[in-house]
Amino acid sequence: MTIQNPEPNPPQGFWVHYADEEDVTSHLFCGEHHDASAVCPNCNKPLLLFLELDASDQRLGIPARSYVRVPLYYCWTCDLSQALFAYKLNPQGSIQILKFRSGSQQKDFPYPDYPHWFPGAQVCLIALSHEEQAAVGVLNSSACIEQILQIEEQTPELARPRHQVGGEPLLLQGWPDHICPSCGKQAPLLASIGNDCLDSRGLAGYDFVQVLFTFCRECDVVMASNACD
Ligand SMILES: [Zn+2]
Ligand SMILES: [Zn+2]
Repeated sequence: MTIQNPEPNPPQGFWVHYADEEDVTSHLFCGEHHDASAVCPNCNKPLLLFLELDASDQRLGIPARSYVRVPLYYCWTCDLSQALFAYKLNPQGSIQILKFRSGSQQKDFPYPDYPHWFPGAQVCLIALSHEEQAAVGVLNSSACIEQILQIEEQTPELARPRHQVGGEPLLLQGWPDHICPSCGKQAPLLASIGNDCLDSRGLAGYDFVQVLFTFCRECDVVMASNACD
């Protein structure tokens, strides 16, 4: 029996764009955080914050809860990145880590002097057009190679992982296998985080890498794993 992948939630995809001065936004990309509960259990340093979504943005369809932000955390510098990472969002905004690969820190990985946090910025969520979403779907499928080559040539920006919330992102290694540790169900995709950031070294130091986040809305559990090409 094959497990049916749940539809991404929200089904509409959004690019994550840096906000202009006139944009009204409440979503934050990277930056330093001071959540004492969000500490890597292997590295004993703050978890890396990629994105902090404002849960009240109705386009995201996040059920009303006592938490107001959905932070996307990860750690690249230890064995946590080798397996599924899962945490629960607590009512007061803190998190509780439910699952991680324990192990050692990786020296000079992903690159030497890897920072504890990256420069923060306000970001907007810009809806993908139907054409863009369709093109990403073709890239993810085993559709005819000419069609894929045409997309790669005409819109190369679609052919490498970008930051995306909702919808079906470019999937370097297919759908992630994220079973919620609380309910045992496959969770729908929430976001894909690529390499681009305000530090020229990048979030991972390599463009063809992504961290995929799923979100079990019944259990308030966020899960993350990476894929690369
Ligand atoms: Zn770590
Ligand atoms: Zn669940």
